[in-house]
Amino acid sequence: MKVLVINCGSSSLKYQLIDMENEAVLASGLVERIGIEGAKLTHKFNGEKFVTETEMKDHKVALTLVLDELTNNEHGAIKSLQEINAVGHRVVHGGEKFNKSVLVDDTVLKEIRECIDLAPLHNPANLMGIEAIQSLIPGVPNVVVFDTAFHQTMPAENYLYALPYEYYEKYKVRRYGFHGTSHNFVSQRAAEFLGKKREDLRIVTCHLGNGSSMAAVDHGKVIDTSMGLTPLEGVCMGTRCGDLDPAIVTFIMEKEGLTPKEMDNVMNKKSGVLALSGISSDFRDIEEVEDTNERARIALTQFANRVRKYVAGYAAQMGGVDAIVFTAGVGENSASMREAILSKLEFMGVKVDPEKNNMRGKEAIISTDDSTVTALVIPTNEELMIARDTKRLVEVK
Ligand code: AMP
Repeated sequence: MKVLVINCGSSSLKYQLIDMENEAVLASGLVERIGIEGAKLTHKFNGEKFVTETEMKDHKVALTLVLDELTNNEHGAIKSLQEINAVGHRVVHGGEKFNKSVLVDDTVLKEIRECIDLAPLHNPANLMGIEAIQSLIPGVPNVVVFDTAFHQTMPAENYLYALPYEYYEKYKVRRYGFHGTSHNFVSQRAAEFLGKKREDLRIVTCHLGNGSSMAAVDHGKVIDTSMGLTPLEGVCMGTRCGDLDPAIVTFIMEKEGLTPKEMDNVMNKKSGVLALSGISSDFRDIEEVEDTNERARIALTQFANRVRKYVAGYAAQMGGVDAIVFTAGVGENSASMREAILSKLEFMGVKVDPEKNNMRGKEAIISTDDSTVTALVIPTNEELMIARDTKRLVEVK
């Protein structure tokens, strides 16, 4: 079975064609600047890149070009679109309606549309992707995999905000959490890697990338996660502020005369380690000058401190922790950040092994043999998780 995985952003689109017999990626690519001048498609096949620069007015035009590339005579991975057996779509927000992946039908589309209020930039793009595929390859089953679904096991005491209850009733204002596909994938894989069942473990998963989130996976179920109604809450990130005193929002809006939209932009795009360091949102750029630049040091130390606060907080909520899992760009690649986070957790029984930790991008245990908590790195693979869910749902259809 061949599954096409599609991840539509507001002006971008990522895709992978996966052969589910051996879970090999047959081709992949990225479209940037959809609906904006200078649109570009980069298709990857057999280790080579093929770039197309042409106007793309919407996601349907972009997906038409993607399907052309996938079936291209020279660098296409398949001969005809009939070889695509199913399409898996990442959808950012499933609200309270979806706690697992589902096959797309008219009701599902309507329910995703009803969640637009909760993710006004992402869900419309995700919907455009699904509708474009439905018209370009009619009859092929589509599956949707939600970023929020894995976190739906959270108990009310952890998902409700201490705000008037009517906001939850009227607007569904609550914690949802994001990166669920990644937290699900790495917690499951970590348990397998340790030769244990996820249902027997208390795991803290640290998805640390440009966007970062933490989750407490208690015996297989998420009981708490750091992102909230939107991906803005939690640890500070590349350009997002993460947790702050909510009174700061109205204070700055008044002082600077900002509209809600402008303030939202400040908190999402101009904050985080970018604002703290004054250098970059990219952790590599900041790490490079950490020893000589005080603000770079502050940014990285604050990030490590905040992640550590969540790890210890979640351990306290679960009554202990068996495994701490690092994933995503920073979590998989930055040995110094992992060490900074874990180094002060010895009181909880976490002992880092500097030699084992000195690696990047592969599955490995990074704690010592006598550490009572196992720390490990598990590279995430959201596309594979989407493809697996797609295959499973199409097969039971
Ligand atoms: P992601 O959002 O998961 O793609 O992660 C992107 C982030 O990972 C960027 O801030 C990168 O700087 C960071 N990253 C990637 N490789 C490294 C590395 N070797 N050391 C530190 N940070 C890295």
